[in-house]
Amino acid sequence: MIVLLALLTIAVYTDFEGASLGRIRRLAGDWLECAVAGETDHEGRNRQATWYYFRLEGAAGRLVTIDLVELAGEYNYKPNRGVIDDRTPPVYSYDRRTWRHLTGVEYDPSVPLLRLRIQPERSPVWIAHVPPYTTGDLARLLGELRGHPHFAERVIGTSAEGRELLLVTVTDPDARGDKPVVWLMARQHAWESPTSWVAEGALRFLLSDSSEAASIRRRTVFHVFPMVDPDGVVRGGVRFNVHGYDLNRNWDAIDPEKMPEIAAHRRAVLDWVDGGGRLDLFLTLHNTETAEYLEGPPDGAFRGLLERFHKLLVGRSSFEPTRPASLAPPSTDPARKGRMTVVQGLYRDRKIPAFLLEQRISFHPKLGRFPTVEDRLKFGEDLVRVLAEVVGAGPVPPRPQATR
Ligand SMILES: [Zn+2]
Repeated sequence: MIVLLALLTIAVYTDFEGASLGRIRRLAGDWLECAVAGETDHEGRNRQATWYYFRLEGAAGRLVTIDLVELAGEYNYKPNRGVIDDRTPPVYSYDRRTWRHLTGVEYDPSVPLLRLRIQPERSPVWIAHVPPYTTGDLARLLGELRGHPHFAERVIGTSAEGRELLLVTVTDPDARGDKPVVWLMARQHAWESPTSWVAEGALRFLLSDSSEAASIRRRTVFHVFPMVDPDGVVRGGVRFNVHGYDLNRNWDAIDPEKMPEIAAHRRAVLDWVDGGGRLDLFLTLHNTETAEYLEGPPDGAFRGLLERFHKLLVGRSSFEPTRPASLAPPSTDPARKGRMTVVQGLYRDRKIPAFLLEQRISFHPKLGRFPTVEDRLKFGEDLVRVLAEVVGAGPVPPRPQATR
């Protein structure tokens, strides 16, 4: 057990999976300054400070002020003030199942600093950047789904720290034929836990008892990479693997020692395609602070597919783009090796129609609230319906409506 600070009765703990916080200083009684630990890449560059997750004990009934500092960083080699501000208030929970957004946060860009005030009803209370999703959550989900006759899983490799990397496949094996194939990827970046909630929503719906899901399983194959960076998820990382490599860059610099996660996931996709498998659409799921958009492969031939996918997402899900659908450039930075994303890499390797979906964590006008865990699960369900239709499995018949 690591006690980072114990004064009077308030204590901050980071002794659990996914926890992260930097140095802590007491400014006065119940007023703490907490640095966000952040993370840099293998060259000490591109510092990102977009993850914190800690437990507060002994604070029930007390008004606690927490100043989050050391937010500044760098993105794609350009320095910035960081992206944590008053548009991205933390979430808190008393049981780590129900997460609520904290209201009334204050941001001071001159430091930069985000001030939180919380008067917890109970102790302990957990506080995080977004609702966490750990390897324990994934294990629990797979434990529930395992045994369904239309569920299969395979270990495709191990992470730098030796954790299993998984591929889950959902389809009805009794319905044979040349079915369209969709491939989903979640959690290339450890902090982006909402992508795991989306993947969970997708898998739960796909394997549900509904006739609609059964029909999709008969007509479509879904492959899912549920967690690309389990090491980062366990240690409370941000966006680099344990050796400092961004797992959504470096798809042109494959090194099985330094970035075994990229090597294993890439190999699984290429082996499938090289073995004659169809791959109609690959989609990697990501989060940003305030932007939401869909990006397609760097090839104008896929413009029609991109537009069809985009239109269905807008029409049938909570997706609310902040910019038009676009095709990716061939590389994020052609002058520098190690800057190719999975979208760019899979297109370069096998002309795979790979897409990237970014979803915001800030206030969502279409939902009318900050996105909740339930919103992410529901989006996963809607995404399955949209994907099944986009890859040509035909429109999914609407659910039977209750008559009255
Ligand atoms: Zn990301």
